[in-house]
Amino acid sequence: MINAPDQWPQAELVVDYNAVAHNVRLLRARVRDAAVMAVVKADGYGHGAVETARAALGAGARELGVATVAEAMQLRRAGITAPILCWLNISTSDFRPAIEAGVELGVSSVAQLRSVVEAAGEFVPIVSLKVDTGLNRSGASAREFPGLLAELHDYVVAGRVRFRAIFSHLAHADDPQHPENDAQRDRFLEAIATAKMHGLEPELVHLANSAATLTRPDLAFDMVRSGIAVYGLSPVPELGNFGLRPAMTLRARVAMVKHVSAGEGVSYGHEWSAPHDTMVALIPLGYADGVFRSLGGRIDVWIGGRRRPAVGRICMDQFVVDLGPDETGVAEGDEAVLFGPGDNGEPTAQEWADLLGTISYEVVTSPRGRVVRTGRR
Ligand SMILES: *Cc1c(COP(=O)(O)O)cnc(C)c1O
Repeated sequence: MINAPDQWPQAELVVDYNAVAHNVRLLRARVRDAAVMAVVKADGYGHGAVETARAALGAGARELGVATVAEAMQLRRAGITAPILCWLNISTSDFRPAIEAGVELGVSSVAQLRSVVEAAGEFVPIVSLKVDTGLNRSGASAREFPGLLAELHDYVVAGRVRFRAIFSHLAHADDPQHPENDAQRDRFLEAIATAKMHGLEPELVHLANSAATLTRPDLAFDMVRSGIAVYGLSPVPELGNFGLRPAMTLRARVAMVKHVSAGEGVSYGHEWSAPHDTMVALIPLGYADGVFRSLGGRIDVWIGGRRRPAVGRICMDQFVVDLGPDETGVAEGDEAVLFGPGDNGEPTAQEWADLLGTISYEVVTSPRGRVVRTGRR
């Protein structure tokens, strides 16, 4: 959907799905023979899971990755038939619809494997093993892994499970030369060898996230699972952006423009007072919409072709920007870009992340509330 320039809503998150396609093509070129799985969990990192999935598949991503069964089912209901893996399941997850829809289930424990098989009935579930090689989050630990393999082997022999993949997740991928990356690769190779000893031959194995995709091609194996890079944000900002194009722009309309006299305080607590007579603009987005309150007085907003400083506290619904004493060119309804790709000089999600002491992942998954998402192709 493309809104006419004068029709876009008061607060809008614009996603450029051409950028998503560009990023997927770039990732494919980097990994050569390995396939690309586009990770679209958490509603496509805030970019829209279904729309991102379509753009990524159109650009040559072979598979999709999500955390939960519900996320996988949302994609299937939208008519997406590509392979989907979901990996954050618990024994009480509602596996049946996912099994019927041919969703590949990532299993980390014997208990999970048993509930998948029980839920399957006459269907044959597609199961992949998530093995813990050092992250110590989900995934079967080295101690549990042989028992899991033995039980899976029995199910496979009985024709009750189709075994697809072995996969694992890195702890230090954003630090490419960290020795733990190599240690995890070695443990991963060992786990694959152990599976083969148990008579289980995976169709494919995968380990790399975005950071490893871009910095450790030697860890690409048969497929890479790329999330943040699909959205055009760098998983390792210190190393640059690798030619990725950020897909998300958060913008609002200026709600009003008014004069503030020298010495007058602005917004709750009057944390900022006008040093001289000035014009301010009101932006109708606040912390309930994902504009972090701790960014009060610290961000710039792109209005009328320039960066303008936010002043005073960010409130639930709104905050104020100082336009300067001579500003007469900004009017109610004008575009105010909070963050975007940065091509014109507007702030970026990475800048917000740096100010917040967090990662861009948290910034792009935060817009909510009154923000309306629209797509651009
Ligand atoms: C989220 C996730 C990814 C994608 O990570 P990025 O850093 O966004 O590329 C890959 N694999 C697993 C298991 C994940 O949970």
